[in-house]
Amino acid sequence: MSHQFKKCAIYVRQSRVNDSSYSSCEAQLRICMDTAASFAWRVVDHFQDSGQSSETLSRPEMQRLMACVELKQFEHLVVYSIDRLTRRLTDFARLMELFDGSAVKLTVVTDPQFGESAASRFTSNIVAAASEFQQDLTRERMAESRAALKAKGMRVAGRIPFGYSYDRVFSRLMAVPEEAELVEDFFDLASKGKTPAEIADLANKRDGGRSDWNARRLLQILSNPVYAGYLPSDSENAETLQKGNHEEIVTPERFEQVRQQLVARRKRAPTKRTPKPESFPLRGLLYCAKCDRAMTPNTSSFGIKHYRWYQCRSHAGGRPPCAGVSVRANDMEEFVAAQIASSSEYPKLAVRFSDEWQAMTLPQRAALLKECIDRIDYNHDTSDLDINFKAEKLG
Ligand SMILES: [Zn+2]
Repeated sequence: MSHQFKKCAIYVRQSRVNDSSYSSCEAQLRICMDTAASFAWRVVDHFQDSGQSSETLSRPEMQRLMACVELKQFEHLVVYSIDRLTRRLTDFARLMELFDGSAVKLTVVTDPQFGESAASRFTSNIVAAASEFQQDLTRERMAESRAALKAKGMRVAGRIPFGYSYDRVFSRLMAVPEEAELVEDFFDLASKGKTPAEIADLANKRDGGRSDWNARRLLQILSNPVYAGYLPSDSENAETLQKGNHEEIVTPERFEQVRQQLVARRKRAPTKRTPKPESFPLRGLLYCAKCDRAMTPNTSSFGIKHYRWYQCRSHAGGRPPCAGVSVRANDMEEFVAAQIASSSEYPKLAVRFSDEWQAMTLPQRAALLKECIDRIDYNHDTSDLDINFKAEKLG
């Protein structure tokens, strides 16, 4: 059987022509060649834009690259870093779609994680973000009503929104060009139907993990009327908005367009339901080993799918919950059952947690667990489970 080498192309760019540093096209090309060689890919083409800025995609070689991708002339593309391709988020989104459409895999030398894990990271981000998003909506609504009671009509100074700085001389907000550009792109992508979670993921990917955008921050930005030149307001009624004295980053029309999309999405999203006690067999039994507080059940819905989670969400003792400690309820319950089933300590239990367990409903599983388990400590970092049995019951 003959071995076929995968075809690969390289794209390099520098903004200044006589730049001799590591960022020169020659240096980038050399590093990208090495990378391709390490994967045993055959370099069939290379694209070089010298003296071209990343502002737009209308660079001669970029245009040729896009055409070649469309014609599926290679399977891999190697770049030194993402900003060689583009610095604009909207262009980045466009390129990713183009690459996906032609099944071209992107390899980023400075971000080795980029290609391999992108897909899986994306899906898991969405689920986590959807769940985070729902929690935050509830929290925000509570904060809103409290604030409304407390300070009717009073204008709160608040934080300076991302994209602006505060000019003390003129006492007004001034747009910070680089940030404002990103905000503009956020609105642009949102108006084209990208969800806050998707935009956050794109922004993070483009940055190679240096920033940590999430659905919640994106939603805050996309629903902040300040960007359209208005005074800050929590109201969803566009007619009550007042013009401010600062410059707008997006037009009021664009802002309104995005706002309507967000409202429509929220209406489509299933309403938050309080999880039924019996649908979480480990409720009250599972503890976060990091902080010694109980992990709480949570449900999130994504489309028609519902996910059950156990999360460290407690604020007990005035400490915030442990970030990122969350686990799919099904996985955890099956894991616990498997641990007990394989333990030699209580052979009678082992049978109940293998064959019988499989046939049980969630309430039955809850009852069985309560009968014989005192407490389970879960260490999220190591995935270790420490199961404490109710010894007296089992003796
Ligand atoms: Zn914790």
